[in-house]
Amino acid sequence: MAKCVFCQIVSGEVPAKIRYEDDDVVAFDDINPKAPFHVLIVPKKHIKNLNDAAKFDQDLLGHMLLIAQKVTKEGGIANAGYKIVINNGKESGQLVDHLHMHLLGGKLLARMVV
Ligand code: 5GP
Ligand code: ZN
Repeated sequence: MAKCVFCQIVSGEVPAKIRYEDDDVVAFDDINPKAPFHVLIVPKKHIKNLNDAAKFDQDLLGHMLLIAQKVTKEGGIANAGYKIVINNGKESGQLVDHLHMHLLGGKLLARMVV
């Protein structure tokens, strides 16, 4: 099966502006930012979306939130505030079928519909 675009970023086949990486996750700038700060946190393991996450992914999912904390702090937006969005499935607008967390910040997002 062909690798999805986020698996290709994980493997380095597709370039991305990487802000953080460890054994389990990678965080990089969204190629088409919807806010001044728009970073995606992606597990290295291919999971289609939350529907496919399992009990043994619990640590990974918690880890993604703590990496969100770190990346927003280092990006200088933690105190001003930011949103975390996870799209799941067609009706949510999920375009890339590899679980990812959007971190959005850098302007007033309070009225953005989520
Ligand atoms: P979704 O709609 O699936 O929740 O969001 C997918 C996001 O991935 C979109 O915001 C889109 O701009 C971003 N994206 C898609 N392809 C690439 C890519 O090749 N590189 C990067 N950095 N972001 C991508
Ligand atoms: Zn993938």
